Amino acid sequence: MTSDTGIDPAVPPSGTGCVECDAKGGWWFHLRRCAACGHVGCCDSSPGQHATGHYRATGHPVVQSFEPGEDWFWDYATDEILASGPELAPPASHPEDQPSPGPAGRVPADWAATLHR
Ligand SMILES: [Zn+2]
Ligand SMILES: [Zn+2]
Repeated sequence: MTSDTGIDPAVPPSGTGCVECDAKGGWWFHLRRCAACGHVGCCDSSPGQHATGHYRATGHPVVQSFEPGEDWFWDYATDEILASGPELAPPASHPEDQPSPGPAGRVPADWAATLHR
């Protein structure tokens, strides 16, 4: 059950990459994990912006960075960064050896020129 905070610490992440990008063969810059259902989506700098798309589609308001070493949360409902929150079910990030941008083999050579700013 998801509480009205939009956070369910018991749900594990959906995988190691963006759900929609993996389905379409796309690539991402950084990854965000939905704190309500575990959906992993790509950040707003990425071509697909699937983490924000997931919020728009579901109303799940809180994501946590899925980057190694980062534990901040973002609340779409208030447009605020949350410096701390509950510890979510592991793993807390994609594998350390998975590159950013990623995944390996799907990132175009001119990726930096295609980021959203
Ligand atoms: Zn994506
Ligand atoms: Zn979600």
